[in-house]
Amino acid sequence: MAKYTPMIEQYLSVKAEVPDAFLFFRLGDFYEMFFDDAVMAARELEITLTGREGGGEERIPMCGVPYHSAENYIARLVEKGYKVAICEQVEDPAEAKGVVRREIVRIVTPGTVMDARSLSETVNNYIVAVVFSGGGYGFAACDISTGELYVTRLSGSFELLLDELNTYSPSELLGSEAVLEQIRGSASAWLKSAVMTPREPASGGGGLAPEGLFSEKQLASLPESGRETLALLMGYLQETQKRSLSHIKHIRVYEPNQYMVMDPFTRRNLELVETVRDRSKKGTLLWLLDNTVTAMGGRLLRRWIEKPLMNAAHINDRLEAVDRLYNHLIVRDELKQALKEVYDLERLTARIAYGSANARDLVALKVSLQQVPALREQCEASGSRTLAALAKRIDPCQDLMTWIAEAIVDEPPVSVRDGGMIRAGLSARLDQLREASANGKQWLAELEKQERERTGIKSLKIGFNKVFGYFIEVTKSNLSQLEEGRYERKQTLANAERFVTPELKEKEALILEAQESMVDLEYELFVGLRDQLASYIPRLQQLAELIATVDVYQSLAHVSASNRFTRPEIGDFYALEIEEGRHPVVEAVLEDGVFIANETKLTREDGSMLLITGPNMAGKSTYMRQVAMICLMAQIGCFVPAKRAKVPVIDRIFTRIGAADDLIGGQSTFMVEMMDIQVMTEKATERSLVIIDELGRGTSTGEGMSIAQAVIEFLHDKIGCKTLVSTHFHELAHLEESLGGLRNYCMAVKESGKQVTFLRRLIRGAASTSYGIYCAQIAGLPASIIDRSYELLNSFEARTELLQGQLQPAAGSEHKPAVRNANEQVAGQPETEAPNGAETIAEASAPDAQAAV
Ligand code: ADP
Repeated sequence: MAKYTPMIEQYLSVKAEVPDAFLFFRLGDFYEMFFDDAVMAARELEITLTGREGGGEERIPMCGVPYHSAENYIARLVEKGYKVAICEQVEDPAEAKGVVRREIVRIVTPGTVMDARSLSETVNNYIVAVVFSGGGYGFAACDISTGELYVTRLSGSFELLLDELNTYSPSELLGSEAVLEQIRGSASAWLKSAVMTPREPASGGGGLAPEGLFSEKQLASLPESGRETLALLMGYLQETQKRSLSHIKHIRVYEPNQYMVMDPFTRRNLELVETVRDRSKKGTLLWLLDNTVTAMGGRLLRRWIEKPLMNAAHINDRLEAVDRLYNHLIVRDELKQALKEVYDLERLTARIAYGSANARDLVALKVSLQQVPALREQCEASGSRTLAALAKRIDPCQDLMTWIAEAIVDEPPVSVRDGGMIRAGLSARLDQLREASANGKQWLAELEKQERERTGIKSLKIGFNKVFGYFIEVTKSNLSQLEEGRYERKQTLANAERFVTPELKEKEALILEAQESMVDLEYELFVGLRDQLASYIPRLQQLAELIATVDVYQSLAHVSASNRFTRPEIGDFYALEIEEGRHPVVEAVLEDGVFIANETKLTREDGSMLLITGPNMAGKSTYMRQVAMICLMAQIGCFVPAKRAKVPVIDRIFTRIGAADDLIGGQSTFMVEMMDIQVMTEKATERSLVIIDELGRGTSTGEGMSIAQAVIEFLHDKIGCKTLVSTHFHELAHLEESLGGLRNYCMAVKESGKQVTFLRRLIRGAASTSYGIYCAQIAGLPASIIDRSYELLNSFEARTELLQGQLQPAAGSEHKPAVRNANEQVAGQPETEAPNGAETIAEASAPDAQAAV
């Protein structure tokens, strides 16, 4: 066995501590990587792979990055989902006996980055810990870049855990192998990007590190298994960060049923925060509602959208604030102006606690704090109860503002190690040093002048470099003019020589000494101030949260006003009534034409279930989504796109709309849909909203229709939730006769000659055709195929009638063709009212449709 050199031995022993991370091993001005790390890093970072002798039989693969640009490389690796352990020299090489001692000072992981480069301004970066115990899951989510910490307990089902994970979209997941395996096995694409870090929780929550971070009172408020979960999370944070985490102080304990439940598919499909197509923000509800000015407001709005409230009183508090700002344009504008000057207080505060804030961060904090009095004033002026209560809780932290203002100059440098941060007058000692240094500089200027005069060389100058210190520089052509013996040669350049004199050397020592002490003292004073501020973290955090809330209110008010939204009436009643409802996002992106508003009425008396038929592209799914959107927006505390809306608090929205792009390896769309429907039948309550698009597609017509009917009956008889179902099977229209709570609706279509126009209007009655063959014709299929299709359709429909008779023996015999006629009633209006449109709605039997085309 070949023996490695002591340095490589040291490397190997440090590396053994972090087998799952790249080890950045500090050697002089570089971080080096060796062995497999080097091979992988060279590939991932596109840097050159070299090698070095290390005492072994073969050369050791090696690659490195300069320490001053290391942050970029670290950020790139972390973005790719890797962990990076940073190993520094922890003793002075001059004093070291043998190899310099090195230790890991920090491990950067996707869930624990603090560097702004790797963080998105308006998205939280969560690390989540999960502990399974006592038949449920302890759940803790933390964003260390802001200090937020949420803890809850999810009793029972694994689906609930997936729902919750989806709400946070963590970038890192912490848990036992067993729990992670279960999550890996069942979660789909949206969770794949999370790094899974296996850690076995210690039972009983012992060793809740670091000690003393949380008060006993807070710990006592934790739910079952909360202590273990928190211990797991904080232990890991401590292990990776190895420094103060004093900004993670406040545990927010919540019950999952405080918020509306949405499964991952529903969230994705309603396009709340990212689109299905390209996961971008544009075209989502967040995109539409986001007129926030601060980064923390942006993050809070996202959290509100991800977690609609369940408590009608709390929702109404939010609506009240939005209402006042909606109507109070001046206050809204003033707030916005003040907010524009507010920086990301949450992350600033976190950096202060973490010890990574620089002087510019403190100035940003000062400028932000200067806005607080105006913000508070405007909240009081708004006339809103909610905002007034909020203003009362605002602690303007003006004392902290003054400390910074008195200590730090207005435009300090980025680096905290080069001086130039501290104001004159703060420290007498610093002022003295500065004067000494300024005198020294003055002396140098004098010397330059004297030397020029003495030698008669106009281009003679005094310069400075890090290696040689101060020097006198003379170009080659002028060298002959120098007095022999007076100047000591130091450095030769291409066309100049550099010299020193004993006099210059002596002064140099004084100047550099003053400068060094000055920089050291500045750093000391700066850190002192930063530490002083760090002891007021809770005040700053609370302030940040309140300001973020104000920002979200002004955003919702602004968007509500500019999109003609109205305040919904919300409460714990059953009926959902929407007058002239619109889909907020489709309306906003509609390029040509106007959005056609539609009614919705889902009540116990007039039916809580709509069966919607109509051709493709008629607007069915837009309509169904719009109903979900309006409910969701109301529960966020936002106004809604409708003329008037009465919205009950919904406990869960379940949707199955659009393409199932969320396939779990190998399973068919149909299977996935059935599994989701199974979860829905188990979880939906009377207070839920269920929306299913094209129920029963993906299998044979007979089977699909049968399943659809059975599901509809189940929801109708057993659950009584509000339900919107669209289907291609217009044959299901007969259900209206047997199910008291079901109403047939369809999307109106105008036919004139061979033209079919979608009117986007929801009307009472069932459509009789899907216009599929018409679409085929528009697409240009040969006439012979089109004719043959109609022929087959006729005979097929005859057979289906027969099948229906078998499915529904009781109703089958009295099956009324009248049901299949769309009559021109707009949803929500009494059935006797006369049609108001001039269009004729397609007469509905298949032969007629054929005749029309
Ligand atoms: P379906 O689900 O019936 O196939 P969609 O709901 O997908 O139809 O609607 C098709 C397109 O019609 C949408 O992309 C949208 O642009 C437009 N649309 C839908 N509803 C409306 C409406 N109420 N007003 C105006 N345009 C609409």
